Amino acid sequence: MKSNEGLSTRCIHAGEIHDVQGSPHTPIYTTTTFKFNSTEDLLDVVEGRKEGNLYTRYGSNPTIRSLEEKLAAMEGAESALAFCSGMAAEAALFLAHGRRGIVCIGDAYGGTLEFLSTQLPLLGISTFFLLGSELDLLPSILDQGAELVFFETPTNPTLEIFDITAICATAHLKGAKVAVDNTFASPVNQNPLVFGADFVMHSATKFMGGHSDITAGTVIGKSDLLAPIKNWRKNLGQMIAPEVASLLARSLRTLVVRVERQNASALVIAQLMQSHPKIRQVYYPGLADFPGHALARAQMHGYGGLLTVEIDGSDYEAVQVVNRLKLFAIAPSLGGVESLATQPVTTTHHGISAMEFKRRGINGSMIRLSIGLENIDDLINDLMQALE
Ligand code: PLP
Repeated sequence: MKSNEGLSTRCIHAGEIHDVQGSPHTPIYTTTTFKFNSTEDLLDVVEGRKEGNLYTRYGSNPTIRSLEEKLAAMEGAESALAFCSGMAAEAALFLAHGRRGIVCIGDAYGGTLEFLSTQLPLLGISTFFLLGSELDLLPSILDQGAELVFFETPTNPTLEIFDITAICATAHLKGAKVAVDNTFASPVNQNPLVFGADFVMHSATKFMGGHSDITAGTVIGKSDLLAPIKNWRKNLGQMIAPEVASLLARSLRTLVVRVERQNASALVIAQLMQSHPKIRQVYYPGLADFPGHALARAQMHGYGGLLTVEIDGSDYEAVQVVNRLKLFAIAPSLGGVESLATQPVTTTHHGISAMEFKRRGINGSMIRLSIGLENIDDLINDLMQALE
């Protein structure tokens, strides 16, 4: 792979194995183990003198290594690790680099919040939560010893935008590392490593997979920083299956065209929703009057396929709107070819206290829309009839 090649070219060609049978892309190697010509050859791989295939749970499998090379190329990074889910990727990242404390900035996926607030503390790991409006407290929390800063941008579900460069500068000054959950943006719309992040993490279940048919995750960054994460992955057994790795690589080859279409449709729908009398507020970074718009314009290439609308009515009315949708499916998740509608209070943020909802600016009138690849007119018609 040439480093100056464009993203679409990298998505298609980076990491691909040129196999002896002439396959234009990497075949699926389902084997769990790989044989050697001699014990000396085996030891060269075991002791790290040679790159090679050894045992699939370790990640030393050609299909998985090929996928990881592609993932790294897509974020312009040295290395990538593939996982069996986005949460597996986060867990290994937190255990490898966050044991002295983790600061989570802004809103995040509900599973991330649950893991950080209730499970990691059981292991004695301190976790801290700062809203975007409380960022001035970051240096003092880092002074208490926290070593990893983690955030999404745009966030789930209010699409808040954080300044990656500024947060990295503050964290690095205090000796902490920064990890960005880039799931909502995808590598097409944003590359956090360019702005100084140490790690970029994705739930590849979403835009990267893109067809709502695989569960996977990745952490991407410098090889030496990924090495301890790789060890946690190995012994927690969080490896992606070769079959899933192959499906993910297949999906990545079309990522750019999918995301560009999702960006375009989401912008049109956000603009239309903004002028609809039944909508109180639209959260979408591509809207000129959205608070994070200028920042998004500076650090993103596109504004993404997700938007959240707030119905001008009660929680009950929002449920009615969702129930009336015919083309949009009522389902959690995002980033797939089919458009989905979900209410954060019933899915990703279900079970969070009323006080916490208020603090985070989330309410029952909000509907998050993940825009798929259907014809835009059909999506608009569906939203219009549901809002009637
Ligand atoms: N990060 C974000 C932003 C998510 O939306 C999700 C899942 O919805 C995750 C991480 C976790 O990913 P997975 O479901 O692949 O474990």
